[in-house]
Amino acid sequence: MPEIKKLLVANRGEISLRIMRTAREMGIKTVAVYSEADRLSPNVIFADEAVCLGPPASSQSYLLGDKIIEECKKLEVDAIHPGYGFLSENADFARKVREAGLIFVGPSPESIAVMGSKLAAKQAVGKYDIPLVPGTDEAITDIDAAKVKAAEIGYPILIKASAGGGGKGMRIVENEGEFEEQMQRAVSEAQSAFGDGAVFIEKFITSPRHIEIQVLGDQHGNTVYLFERECSIQRRHQKVIEEAPSAVVTPEMRKAMGEAAVGVAMACNYYGAGTVEFIVDDKLNFYFLEMNTRLQVEHPVTEMITGKDLVREQIWIAEEKPLSFQQEDLKINGHAVEVRVYAEDPKNNFLPDIGKLITYRRPQGPGVRVDDGFEEGMDIPIYYDPMIAKLVTHGENRKAAIDKMIRAIDDYKIIGIQTTLAFCKFALRHEAFVSGNFDTKFVEHYFTPAVLEEQFSDEESELLAALAVEFLSKASLKSTTERKKTEAISTSWRNRLK
Ligand code: ADP
Ligand code: ADP
Ligand code: MG
Repeated sequence: MPEIKKLLVANRGEISLRIMRTAREMGIKTVAVYSEADRLSPNVIFADEAVCLGPPASSQSYLLGDKIIEECKKLEVDAIHPGYGFLSENADFARKVREAGLIFVGPSPESIAVMGSKLAAKQAVGKYDIPLVPGTDEAITDIDAAKVKAAEIGYPILIKASAGGGGKGMRIVENEGEFEEQMQRAVSEAQSAFGDGAVFIEKFITSPRHIEIQVLGDQHGNTVYLFERECSIQRRHQKVIEEAPSAVVTPEMRKAMGEAAVGVAMACNYYGAGTVEFIVDDKLNFYFLEMNTRLQVEHPVTEMITGKDLVREQIWIAEEKPLSFQQEDLKINGHAVEVRVYAEDPKNNFLPDIGKLITYRRPQGPGVRVDDGFEEGMDIPIYYDPMIAKLVTHGENRKAAIDKMIRAIDDYKIIGIQTTLAFCKFALRHEAFVSGNFDTKFVEHYFTPAVLEEQFSDEESELLAALAVEFLSKASLKSTTERKKTEAISTSWRNRLK
């Protein structure tokens, strides 16, 4: 069996650091790659060795697969972990890694290729009796035929890019009159964003919940599921709050979804860690959406409830070791919640709000985990996904995990940029979330910028004003723009106190 002695993480930020921490615990040497924008990132400092790939743009740094493979040869690296995003779901890259005699910590290039196309994935699972959203299972080539199919399914429908990802490449069509125009837009969007104009139709599930199953498969034919994660609190079809287990999944439903997910994995001879995503309707019917052939952003909630380190499992599987446990050995322990802390302004339509982390203090305490890749004083670069951190809490039950999360959010001090934290606190205290009766439309249904104004207690305002004053004095040594920004923050908090 091959042994990994030196691992290169072909990624940046929090996930790079998170992977390297486990590698070090396993006695594996680590190599970070970075762009010129990430020179001082904590993952670069943590790594045993680090290589600059080039200028900030991903296309000139983190997406340079050939260059990364070259560096591996120079540094005698034996394995590459791709993290999520970037090259993680690029079958050609995985193939080149293999051809270079290196280990790819992930599934085979063949599995990635099948699941990377939502259409190929639907076709592959065909013989496994997996429930699919009603729709077309081939790319639309004939608009009239597609309209007939759409009428059969019933409006509203969703036009989806087969190669889509990250919540992009989807268009809702409310009625036949809009069909042609939306279809043309979808094709040209898919073409420019993913280089593949293939689109298909799905019934638009109203009141949908997004519930996904974590799977792990080894290279000896064993596959298990590590229960579900509910990720229904989303903006722009992208997740902001995740939890495990789901508030609505019963033991019977969990078993049925878990077994369906294992079927999806088997349909593409999957090994490694993967996520099978389902959409669940208001009657709790579940339908297969897609499989993500990589470590998922929200994997920590599964780690918290199962006690398994998913990166460690990924590395073991890549070393061709058999899984060290079976389905019966896995148990759910308590409840975990994750909030994604994005540099975005919830009051301004969740638009990115990048800038400097003038103050950055993490919450602490039992059951609190922060996965991040920044330190106080650092800038959030404009070139990449604006996620600053993932804040995760674990409690003995759902209420305890939520209460702990609200406490941890209150203890998280970020000044200098707007974040999704205030929105997350609002959501976690909302009756719909607390009762478990919510869907992916939570933001549209309940959120307006005004609710955040009401949320701040006097106590919080006082604390923040005090902090702002502290930073005003700190900032006096820094640039004029920075000082102005701090002054503005300080003034706005002082005004709140009046
Ligand atoms: P998860 O389901 O793990 O939350 P996301 O779908 O939010 O994952 O994507 C994780 C990361 O990968 C994000 O940074 C997202 O922007 C990026 N990503 C996902 N799919 C694609 C894609 N097809 N092209 C480019 N980036 C993608
Ligand atoms: P991506 O590759 O971008 O992650 P997904 O197919 O996983 O695409 O869908 C992302 C999100 O879009 C889902 O979590 C859900 O909120 C919404 N969505 C996808 N398909 C449907 C559908 N058929 N009906 C309603 N909402 C959907
Ligand atoms: Mg998805």
